Amino acid sequence: MEILRTVAAMTDWSEKKRLQGMTIGLVPTMGFFHQGHLHLMRLCRQQMDHLVVSLFVNPIQFAPGEDLAAYPRDLDRDAALAAAEGTEVLFAPDNVAMYPPGFQTRVLVGSLTETLCGAGRPGHFAGVTTVVTKLLHIIRPHCAVFGEKDYQQLVVIRRLVADLNLDVRILSHDIVREPDGLAMSSRNTYLSTTQRRSALCLYKSLQLARRRVAEGVLAAATLKSEIEQYLATFPEVSVEYVSIVDQESLQDKTKVDETVRLAMAVRVGSTRLIDNGRLC
Ligand code: AMP
Repeated sequence: MEILRTVAAMTDWSEKKRLQGMTIGLVPTMGFFHQGHLHLMRLCRQQMDHLVVSLFVNPIQFAPGEDLAAYPRDLDRDAALAAAEGTEVLFAPDNVAMYPPGFQTRVLVGSLTETLCGAGRPGHFAGVTTVVTKLLHIIRPHCAVFGEKDYQQLVVIRRLVADLNLDVRILSHDIVREPDGLAMSSRNTYLSTTQRRSALCLYKSLQLARRRVAEGVLAAATLKSEIEQYLATFPEVSVEYVSIVDQESLQDKTKVDETVRLAMAVRVGSTRLIDNGRLC
């Protein structure tokens, strides 16, 4: 596996593969790999001749006061894990390679970015859509894989690709969970032992909601308030949002059916965690 650090080296590599008629798949990441990332790599590798993984902790998607400086990093470990999945190139640019002096452009997607995580993290999705647009232009993959763990991000990227006629297929992968149900996340490493127990509140809320829906409780307002009451029983957990939304428009729904998703964000101590899933 090659580790490429410059835009020119990455673009040259992709250009050569394209001239040879090879297909390229991309898994964009911020590193500190866990099984969630590795499943995305496996899916991508199965679909394409070559797998590129990008590893870039994108500063412009973090607001001041968020965890940019503390975000866990371990390039050597990540490189070994990516190589074991058949990755051919790990594209790991530094901040200056991606945002040279004078950089001032943002790619903005509309109302999809204003709800859910977008409401509490202004500017976050502009950072995501800008870096993903850059990565797609630099690497020119035929397909790119995103996880449903960041469900809003997936919907926003699909919109971006459709709206700008970007020539790439977007694939998604289910949420990969720990054996007890906690969605895998690089941020889980921030949790203390008691916080780790509390973090399970998200998955347990999903299960609670699914049980109540199976019992016939379909009113979104009732379900939301039951979940909020349940979340309030966990130590160190504060709720950012509990939303029942249309899975495409991400707008609130009043009644549960097969087109909705429950999406949640909480803080456990100072760690922000998200989860989501269908209810029927
Ligand atoms: P990140 O490194 O956290 O930016 O994530 C890189 C990609 O991996 C994104 O498309 C995420 O949605 C995806 N991802 C992260 N955690 C999981 C998970 N537990 N299951 C599935 N996909 C995930």
